[in-house]
Amino acid sequence: MTMDIEELKAKLQEQEIMLEDAEKQLQLLIDNIPGGILTYEEESGKFITISKGCLDIFGCDEGSFRDFYYNNFELFISKPDRQKVKDLIAQQLNFLGNAEVTFRVRDLLGETKYIAYRGKRFERHDGIKQVYAVIEDVTEQTEVQQQLQRIANTLYLETQRYQLLQEAVDDITFDYNVETDTLEYFMPTEGSLRKTIAQFEEKGKLSEYIESKDLVDISDMWKSLLSEQMKNIAECRIYISSRKKYVWSRIYVASFTDQQEKEKVVRIVGSIKDISAERKEIDALSKQANCDNMTGLYNKRAMQMLVKDYLRKHGDGTNHAMLMVDADNFKAVNDNLGHLYGDEVIKYVAKSIRSTFRESDFVGRVGGDEFLIFMKNADLDAAKMRAGKLNEKMRQTFENDGITIRISCSIGIALYPDQGTDYEALYQKADEALYKAKEGGRDRYELAGEEDQ
Ligand code: GH3
Ligand code: MG
Repeated sequence: MTMDIEELKAKLQEQEIMLEDAEKQLQLLIDNIPGGILTYEEESGKFITISKGCLDIFGCDEGSFRDFYYNNFELFISKPDRQKVKDLIAQQLNFLGNAEVTFRVRDLLGETKYIAYRGKRFERHDGIKQVYAVIEDVTEQTEVQQQLQRIANTLYLETQRYQLLQEAVDDITFDYNVETDTLEYFMPTEGSLRKTIAQFEEKGKLSEYIESKDLVDISDMWKSLLSEQMKNIAECRIYISSRKKYVWSRIYVASFTDQQEKEKVVRIVGSIKDISAERKEIDALSKQANCDNMTGLYNKRAMQMLVKDYLRKHGDGTNHAMLMVDADNFKAVNDNLGHLYGDEVIKYVAKSIRSTFRESDFVGRVGGDEFLIFMKNADLDAAKMRAGKLNEKMRQTFENDGITIRISCSIGIALYPDQGTDYEALYQKADEALYKAKEGGRDRYELAGEEDQ
């Protein structure tokens, strides 16, 4: 079948129109995909087409774009990346026929942009190789990513340094992560033991490790650490499971807030130093300064200090009692049985007094055979009751070295606030009452300011 020339012309025209439409559609597509499209000759790098999307990324027109990069793809890549990127693209195109790489480009204002490039080789009918590349501006993502990388790097270095530091000292170190609620600790003296305690806050783990007497203070400190960035030092008894006991420790601790959210505490780190030896020394020294060697009771100076301090803090509103106790005819014990025997009697009296009064009451030896007791929150009846009990206890026979004797004591009672509101006044009144008890025949108690019991 043959077509006439008119028919042929019409057909051609129709095809040209279709081709034009297809080109228009392609252009529309090219202009509207995210990012831009660049085509260039692989060999020379000469740009062929530059899409509108490309120009949008760089905010310029096609002429300026071509001028600025000398109309060459290679010169489009910023200098420090150029050779490396060129080689990478060539390699990938040769092996795979396409290439994917991210590189830096200096834009027309001299700013650096990160460009993600995906290229595909296309061989023209005449053998010239062209590359079709989709490019995308990934500057923002890359910057965030690089920042993250930097943070990760510093964190890694910090962790390394921190671990080195941990290993260099004998102290226990710990690191609490607020977000995960886990506390990690490291014990160099226990074969570099590293352990994690999960659900630290949620399960109230603090109370498992801190001695109950110190818990209130330490809990308060922990709460403050969680609420703001701060440093602190505290001393408390911490349970060390490997030693199966509480150990006096000094905690150096610091909390850190988030870099962005300055209000939010994210970590609490610290070290724990064993101060049991130090503490023992302090305890021994303070015992020496405050206690009577022979009986272990407080000495006169400590009694004065304790009572004055107590009255200043808790004096008002309630009754307290001061009792002065003195062994009867003690000189005779010394004279007849010797000083060593006498010492044993004093120790016995001290023990009897201590066990007659509450743990929280102050008991001291203030003279040779003279003792002072301060009863907290005690009224007249309570004081009389205890005094009577003590007289009773003293009347029991005392035996030492096979020799048995009978002993007794006299007691003077002064009440706060009726007979005095300060240490000196109460002491004097109790002493007067004691004198009265001696006068009255010993082995009894007397009340200050009263003629009869
Ligand atoms: P009174 O019933 O009046 O209290 O008569 P007393 O003999 O107990 O007389 P006083 O309390 O005045 O004397 C206490 C004696 O205690 C005087 C002192 O020789 C003796 N003394 C003081 N300190 C010690 C001590 O540490 N050891 C011994 N063994 N005796 C001491
Ligand atoms: Mg005496």
